[in-house]
Amino acid sequence: MSKVGGSLLTNGNVLNVINKVMDRERLYNGKLIIVVSAMKGVTDLLIRAFDGHDAGALDDAISIYINEALSLGFNKLASFLELTREELLRFINLREPWIRDYVVIHGELLSVLLVENILRDLLELNAKAVYEPGIITNDSWGSALVNHESSIKYVVSRFGRVFSTYDVAVVPGFLGVTGDGRYASLGRGGSDYTASLLANFLGASRLTFYTDSGGLLSGDPRIISDPVLIREISYGEANVASMLGAKKFHPRTFEPLVNSRVVTFITDPWHESGTYVINNCITTPKLVTVSEAGGDRFKVSVVGCNLSLNDHLRNEVAKIASSYEIDEVRNEHNHAISTLVSNWDDVIALARDVHRWVRVWIA
Ligand code: ASP
Ligand code: MG
Repeated sequence: MSKVGGSLLTNGNVLNVINKVMDRERLYNGKLIIVVSAMKGVTDLLIRAFDGHDAGALDDAISIYINEALSLGFNKLASFLELTREELLRFINLREPWIRDYVVIHGELLSVLLVENILRDLLELNAKAVYEPGIITNDSWGSALVNHESSIKYVVSRFGRVFSTYDVAVVPGFLGVTGDGRYASLGRGGSDYTASLLANFLGASRLTFYTDSGGLLSGDPRIISDPVLIREISYGEANVASMLGAKKFHPRTFEPLVNSRVVTFITDPWHESGTYVINNCITTPKLVTVSEAGGDRFKVSVVGCNLSLNDHLRNEVAKIASSYEIDEVRNEHNHAISTLVSNWDDVIALARDVHRWVRVWIA
């Protein structure tokens, strides 16, 4: 099972990326599910189209797909996309909250359509688009909650049927469906969550997240100049790290996998290196995150297994933080210690200081 992030799906590159992912995934025999995100930038454009009644933004979003279809020689697909544009043009002027979700999840639906064509017509694989994988949600539009019990039944039976005929299923991330059959979005970054839900429901042996920036790093490269690749991290730590915004994962990405037997790997399509997420938890500091804490404050957090239960490590973090104006030191779910800071310059300096300490543990 694999998930292909939207940052990889840019004009001129989709065939290359899918080809590379298939090369890597073919090593593991058996059936394959590919969860896809919207192409880069498309979800933002669709949100702008709906919220601002902005037909130009809708045009831009659909054109990204039309250009890709035409450059791959999929002329019929390009004409179909024109019709989708016309349909959505009517929807962006309606003000129902569920219609906003319906518009916004279209990036993922169109990615599925495009990738199915690539797999079937260009890579000659026995592939099938599954536009609605059976993730059942409530109607909290914009960030719908998943009903695990009903979903598992639908998901298992849907893929059982698909895989009796096909080898590869292409599935849209980011969406669920309500009991009355309307598409609902799982919240920004939700394709990650789709992949982990499906891996859990189907008892997948492997789940690989393909992103444009490879595995999980010890710090955000926009803030930290020398972050290093984390080779192994536990599900518990990865869960807290994604709640704290690491690598822009959906906050629930690792929640379905905590205690599961799925082997998760985070990598990019071109390199063998990456991060394994496993069930073994070692009490060392692993990574630093910076996130918004509300009320104009930020959180500088250090994540490591049972870190906040370890007095010695807690004191070390508090000692580093004591040179700064901090508002509070807080434990997060046993696996992280956060300091709340208001001044942005302090946020950056503290994150770099804490990272220097984390690096010593990783080295
Ligand atoms: N396309 C959606 C977003 O941009 C979901 C995802 O990429 O995971 O939030
Ligand atoms: Mg993402």
